[in-house]
Amino acid sequence: MYAFELHHAKSVADAAALLAKTGGKALAGGQSLVAAMKLRLAQPGHVVDLSGVAELKGIRREGDHVTIGAMTRHAEVASSDVVKGAIPALAAPITGAVRVALGISWVVLVPAEMLGVTNGLGYAVLNARDNVDYAALAATMLAIGLLGFLLDRIFRGIHRIVRSRTGKQGA
Ligand SMILES: Cc1cc2nc3c(=O)[nH]c(=O)nc-3n(C[C@H](O)[C@H](O)[C@H](O)COP(=O)(O)OP(=O)(O)OC[C@H]3O[C@@H](n4cnc5c(N)ncnc54)[C@H](O)[C@@H]3O)c2cc1C
Repeated sequence: MYAFELHHAKSVADAAALLAKTGGKALAGGQSLVAAMKLRLAQPGHVVDLSGVAELKGIRREGDHVTIGAMTRHAEVASSDVVKGAIPALAAPITGAVRVALGISWVVLVPAEMLGVTNGLGYAVLNARDNVDYAALAATMLAIGLLGFLLDRIFRGIHRIVRSRTGKQGA
């Protein structure tokens, strides 16, 4: 390691002023910076230690947002009650995504059943066509539409319940 000057910032304003004045590098955990300095990949003459900056520590929840300070330790985030409590906020986007994924799966599944299989709704469509059984063809297509509609209704209901329980707005 080469010689450099280490500064201990007390606040964000102090750190910003020290960085501006010295042209140095901020030091958080040092996992990357110190290694880079040892290998001479970075050679700052001044290093500003942020570990004493209380403003950069902590985890806060404000509405739908969780703010994690730049100097918060990974272990604190992993065990944080604030983070754990915020996770239900993700439930509504997840059920919304499941609903969309289910719709796409349904659209893809039926045509997939037309290829190299001997049962399923897609197969039933082709089979009815080959047998010139238009009544069966119409009934199968109706069943495909109805099933898709019902599945979407079920997941739409689940999504609405989750949204109302988690206080989420929007789609
Ligand atoms: C063994 C090992 C395994 C790793 N594996 C992974 C991995 O799997 N995935 C992955 O993504 N990363 C990995 N990393 C990289 C690791 O994520 C980084 O080393 C780490 O994020 C750097 O964080 P630090 O707090 O130690 O930053 P430091 O080393 O202190 O700083 C890194 C850089 O950020 C700047 N900086 C620091 N704090 C601030 C701030 N508040 N504002 C502005 N600039 C700032 C510094 O000046 C420096 O340029 C690994 C590192 C090691 C050593």
